[in-house]
Order: sequence, then structure tokens, then C-alpha cells
Amino acid sequence: MMNNTIPDVDYYAALADLLFPFAKSGADIEAVYPPRGLPDGAYVTRLGPSPTGFVHLGNLFMATVNRRLAVQSGGVFFLRIEDTDRKREVDGAVESLLSSLAYFGVGFAEGAAADGEKGDYGPYRQSERREIYHAFVRGLVASGLAYPCFLSEDQITAIRAEQEARKELPGIYGKYAEWRDADIALIGEYLAKEMPFVIRLNADACTVQGSGETVTIIDGIRGEITFPRNILDVVILKQDGLPTYHFAHTIDDHLMRTTHVVRGEEWLSSLPIHIALFEALDFTPPTYCHTALLMKVDDGVKRKLSKRLDPELSLSYYIAEGYHPKAVEEYLLTILNSNYEEWRLSNPGADNTEFTLTTEKMGASGILVDLDKLRDVSRDTLAGITAKELADFMIDWVSRERPDALPVLTKDRAILEAALDIGRSGEKPRKDLEYAAQIFEHISYFFDEYFQIKDPLPEHVGAEDARTLLEGYHGVYDQSDGREIWFGKIRALAEENGYAARPKDYKKNPELYKGHVGDVSAVIRLALTGRLEAPDIWEIQQILGEVRTRGRLRAFERV
Ligand code: GLU
Repeated sequence: MMNNTIPDVDYYAALADLLFPFAKSGADIEAVYPPRGLPDGAYVTRLGPSPTGFVHLGNLFMATVNRRLAVQSGGVFFLRIEDTDRKREVDGAVESLLSSLAYFGVGFAEGAAADGEKGDYGPYRQSERREIYHAFVRGLVASGLAYPCFLSEDQITAIRAEQEARKELPGIYGKYAEWRDADIALIGEYLAKEMPFVIRLNADACTVQGSGETVTIIDGIRGEITFPRNILDVVILKQDGLPTYHFAHTIDDHLMRTTHVVRGEEWLSSLPIHIALFEALDFTPPTYCHTALLMKVDDGVKRKLSKRLDPELSLSYYIAEGYHPKAVEEYLLTILNSNYEEWRLSNPGADNTEFTLTTEKMGASGILVDLDKLRDVSRDTLAGITAKELADFMIDWVSRERPDALPVLTKDRAILEAALDIGRSGEKPRKDLEYAAQIFEHISYFFDEYFQIKDPLPEHVGAEDARTLLEGYHGVYDQSDGREIWFGKIRALAEENGYAARPKDYKKNPELYKGHVGDVSAVIRLALTGRLEAPDIWEIQQILGEVRTRGRLRAFERV
């Protein structure tokens, strides 16, 4: 059936005409996308998500690296939607991607946008670039580097089975590539019958004489990598006329003048194919930077983050819990560059844009995503944010996640700010605010609607004692007392009721006392906040005001 002699130039030209009668030439397309004219050393990077509807931490991670590399070098970072797999596409996916990324402060000066796109290197949605891909596929066919393949699914399954039985490499190559240089009349016949076909790369035709069996490239993160040259006739254009990821990104990154492709380790195994495509098209490949996979430690075992098992893989998790974008950014930088934490220690107040991110300092194996560490970083970051800004942040979160609580939180802005600011000035500022859901819980006792007694009485104080202490406190409490006078009253109250005025006295002779002044404060704290752990009582009283302070003392005395 097949033509075994290597066809001539006319054959390939005729085949290209037969398959793509209306396609433009690659040169026509090239002319529309000239080099960008950026200064030397400027990075052009992109985010190339597939619109599957699931926006994950990997998207933000990649966006953070790619954007920084571009911005810090005076380059361009753009968004390209990789939507060639129509089956996986979900309505509204681009909008949710953009809004999730926008929460974390990631925007795009160029590329796909919710209402179209901006920039001179588009279209930025692969599904709209069909004409462009066809021009280059046509060029490959005309040079004998690609060909139509009409193998049916059943035939491919049979080939696979045969290869398996013979323990051979699976795939279409060499003798299995039946449609390489097939009789043009037969191809015409199949086309007339509208038989489905794909276009495959002719891997053997691509191999330049003497180019050797392996290829070596310099990966921006991993350094020199050597791998076997591609020998597979991979599909470059699918039956629906849209390209595969392999082919699409080659064309796009070339035409969009991408200089660096930072992408996940899962693409490393396809690198031979990508390099083969760049060679076949005679394009210079970008610098590939393959990041390590995002992992977590689960029961002591390090494993890949999983969509099914780990809510923290989804960006919506961080938005719903209300992690502050600055905290997440700070955290991502710590896992992105091994020297970031050190830089932060020596530049505590500096804007993190002063740090230069480098691909060489990125890890090449398993990046640990650790929520404890994120919260830790978050505590530090939030300590550096003003109460005013935090109040806006909380209102924004509450409007989204707890709209029922919005009237309560916004009733008195001064109270909200004061509650958020408590204990944050001074020598050792308090660092216990982590994320909006936790902060909301943390400050909830300032609002009567959410105030409730959560903790039991402290260990050394019985119910009867508690009542006596609170009655006593209520008698001496004066809202206008300064901190010193106020604390003097607490010490006196402790002593009058058999508690040591100083913890060290109690420690020396515990048998002489019921407890110490700390227990007395704890009872008051419990009455006023409903919990044993809370900031300074005096400050809390200043915020609650006299009426509410007395109200809570009275209510607790009655319990
Ligand atoms: N569309 C690919 C993905 O979603 C992008 C990979 C790349 O950045 O090249 O994984």
C-alpha cells in the first residue's frame, strides 16, 4: 500500500497544498510578530494555564516566578490561555483564574483578559491561533518534516499491543510509522472520504545528520541536562485541527518572543520532543526552567500535593481562609529561593521587590508546601501591616465569606481598628494574627453578637472564688485608671483573697496561697473575653468601654 521510496520536493509541496490549501506561509506570520525590541537581559515570560476551572497553587507559584523574572529585568510577563484541549475546558474558567490571581496581586499587562485581550503578540488564546499553527504545520509538511497519519484508534491499539509483546518502545516511529511518505493518491482518497487524521512529526527526517543520539541543554534551574534525541513521530496537530501542547507552545513561545519558560517538572520528560520541534522549525528555543513539584509531608511521608486529598492545593482555599496576599507572596518567595529568608532577616522592613529572584537558587527537587510555615510567615507579615489596612482587609474578607457579620464589623470602625491594633506597638509587638478567618475568631469577643464564654475557669479558681474575685474587681474597677493604678488594684485584690500578689511569692511558698495574681487576671480576662488567652486586659477594657466592661463583669458574676 505504501510508497517506499523517499519522495521528492514536488511530493511534499503537493502534499502541503493538498492538506492546507489556504494556509499562509510561516514567513507571512513571522512578519506580524517582530522581535520586541527590549533591552538586553530583559526576560519575556508567560503563564500558560489550561482553562480547566481549577485554579491551583501551582498557577500562583508559576505566576510569581515568571512575573518577577520579567518585572525585575524590565521585561514582559503575559497570559496565554492554553485551551487546545476543548474537552477539558470549563465555562468561566478564565474569569475565575484572573480573579483568583488578582486577589494575590497578580495582574497582566499583556495577554488574555476577561473581556478580550491586550498586546501586540496575540491572539493569546490558543484556540484562536489555528491559522497560525496551520501555516507552520504546512511549512513542516512542505519540507518533509511532518505528514498526515490516518491510523485509526484500533490500529494504534494493535501496534501498542505488538510493541508490548516485543518489549519495544511504545509509540509511532520507524517501521510503525506507516503513513510516512505514503502514496499521495491514497492520501487524497482518504481526505476525500473525510477520514479523520492527525499530523505527525517525522522524527527521522528531523534528525540532522551527525547530530548525535543525545541532546544537551542548559536548564535555568537544573543546569546541564542531557537526554536521548526524540525518535517518536509525535502528533503535532490533532484530528480537530488544533495543535497539541507540544506544538502550540513551540510556535507561541517563538512568536511571542518568550525568553524563559518556567514550568513544572512534569514537562521534563517531553523536553526531547520540544527541542526536536524547535529544531524542525528552525527556531531558537527559550531557556527552559523546570521547577520541582509541590509536595507536602503527610504522616511523615513526602508526597505530591493532590487535588483530591489536599484542599490547600486550591487557590480558593487561601482566599476563603483569608490569607493576606502579602503573606502568601512572602511565603512563596521563601520556598522559591533558598536565599530569600536570609535576605529577609537582613532587610526586615524592605519591600520584597528589592530582592532579586534567580532561577539558579530555585530547588530542583520536591518543594515543600507547609501550612504551619505559611502561618508563621503570615504572623510576621501581618505584624508589619497597619491596623487601618488590616481593617480594610477584614471588611473585604467578611463581605465575601461572612456577609452576615458585615454589619457587626462595620458598625464602629474605631473598635475594629483598635481590636486589630491591640498589643502591636512597643518593644515586642504581638504576632498572633495569621489569616482572616482566624483573626475574625480572635477579635470576635469585641462584638457582643459573637461574644461567648469559651474556656473554663483557671485551674486554681473555684466557681465561688471567681464570683468573689469578680465582685471585688467590679467594686474597685475605674475605667479612667491608668495601667499602673489598675494593676495595683489587681494585686491588692489578689492579696485580699488569698492569692499571691507576685507569682514568685507563690512559687516560693505555694502552700500559703490559693494561687497568684495571674489567676486573678485570668478570671477577669475570662469574664471580659470569654477566654483565658487574650491580650492585655487593661487595653481590652479601653476598647470595650465602661458600659460593656461592667456589663460583662455583671453577667459573669451571675453565671
Ligand atoms: N498548559 C500547560 C499547563 O497547564 C502549561 C505548561 C507551560 O507553562 O508551558 O500545565
